[in-house]
Amino acid sequence: MIIDRYNRVHDYLRISITERCNLRCFYCMPSEGIQLTPKPHLMSKDEILDIAKTMVGMGIKKIRLTGGEPLVHKEAHQIIEGLGKLPIELAITTNGIIVDKFIDTFKKSGLKSVNVSLDTLDRDKFQVITRRDYFNRVLSNIYKLVDEGFKVKVNVVLIRDTNDYELIDFLELTKNINIQVRFIEFMPFSGNKWDWSKGVSIKEILDTVNGSYGDKLVNRIEDKPHDTCKNYQIDGYQGTFAIISSITQPFCSSCNRIRLTADGKLRNCLFATDETDLLTAYRNGEDITKLVMENIQAKVAERGGWKNFEELAKPENHNKNRSMVLIGG
Ligand code: SF4
Repeated sequence: MIIDRYNRVHDYLRISITERCNLRCFYCMPSEGIQLTPKPHLMSKDEILDIAKTMVGMGIKKIRLTGGEPLVHKEAHQIIEGLGKLPIELAITTNGIIVDKFIDTFKKSGLKSVNVSLDTLDRDKFQVITRRDYFNRVLSNIYKLVDEGFKVKVNVVLIRDTNDYELIDFLELTKNINIQVRFIEFMPFSGNKWDWSKGVSIKEILDTVNGSYGDKLVNRIEDKPHDTCKNYQIDGYQGTFAIISSITQPFCSSCNRIRLTADGKLRNCLFATDETDLLTAYRNGEDITKLVMENIQAKVAERGGWKNFEELAKPENHNKNRSMVLIGG
């Protein structure tokens, strides 16, 4: 088992299979764009599958595919089918634009859980946030995934004066369909000009929800072990909502996540500033399991070592990290 110095068992691997994306969300992709890694330095399909297989042998039980946008990868179908052969729970986080073209592949590969990133229910606002005009496709694909029986979560990064006023609209989405809407506190990454005055805390979210529905109708429901979010349900609603409070109420004590970037670097935390180059070692025929254990043994207790809000809030610290598009969330 992959255990760190705090006895946290790491059995959940998030693999970013591409740095490319068909959106340009301002809190993820720096406005000046990013320097893409040259292809020879990126993991090939076979390298992704083989490294994943090795890590499953070490105790990984769940793999989530991320990006950039994972489904724009030219071999996305083959990668999903290949991972589907491993004894794991397979999941994906997508922006939902072309997900309808993968429904059969998901079903064939046993992929049942799809997280779709959608930060607004307003087409014009969608264009402001993403710099692209795909709102209608994303929303209709969310309904299509639900109709096809997938477990759908909608990830919403809440940003003050951008989409925070849509909080209740998103909750009303859970009234008649069984989806989970997850509100994510705005997080700092290289190039996203983060400033907490633009963030909306879990406290503010709950105050707004309780103020709107009355706290008697807002039920706190059980969190699953290792959950990154706190779960709730509006009385009588089919779906649920959740809040991911990495900034104001971090949840690192039960962290079970490891990340592998598209260029084959292992990261033991979303906010890590150190990485382990698995791909070069793999290509040199070295035993990567030793490197994985060393990487996890070096993991710090909380948020990549940013002990408190003040440290996390220092811009010079954000830029020591990657931009979100190069980590995959
Ligand atoms: S901040 Fe790092 S340690 Fe904390 S939950 Fe996220 S990945 Fe895990």
